[in-house]
Amino acid sequence: MIYFHMTWLIIHLTLHIITPIVLARFAFPDRWIRLSCIMVLTMVVDLDHFLANPVFDPLRCSIGFHPLHSYPAITAYLLMLAIPQLRFVAIGLLVHMGLDGLECIRLALSCNG
Ligand SMILES: [Zn+2]
Repeated sequence: MIYFHMTWLIIHLTLHIITPIVLARFAFPDRWIRLSCIMVLTMVVDLDHFLANPVFDPLRCSIGFHPLHSYPAITAYLLMLAIPQLRFVAIGLLVHMGLDGLECIRLALSCNG
């Protein structure tokens, strides 16, 4: 079972890196390297996991649990889209929340299935 969780963790973390790069490459081809770096760096939002005990739980849904993955935080990321200087940080954070949300759906389906 641990190998199953580790495989999904590796897939999940890989998607956190690949998705912003692919998004930047196709949506902003003239400045994709800089923008993909900004969006990948928004993974630091996962530092809030260190506030939890245990720090890592393969069966825990991050969305709504960790402070920087809370609904008020996600609302703030949406509002940041309106600020040009923060727009790509916001996009990176929202992509991150979307991927974490998909992981929550996968967990819910695997627990109920
Ligand atoms: Zn996360």
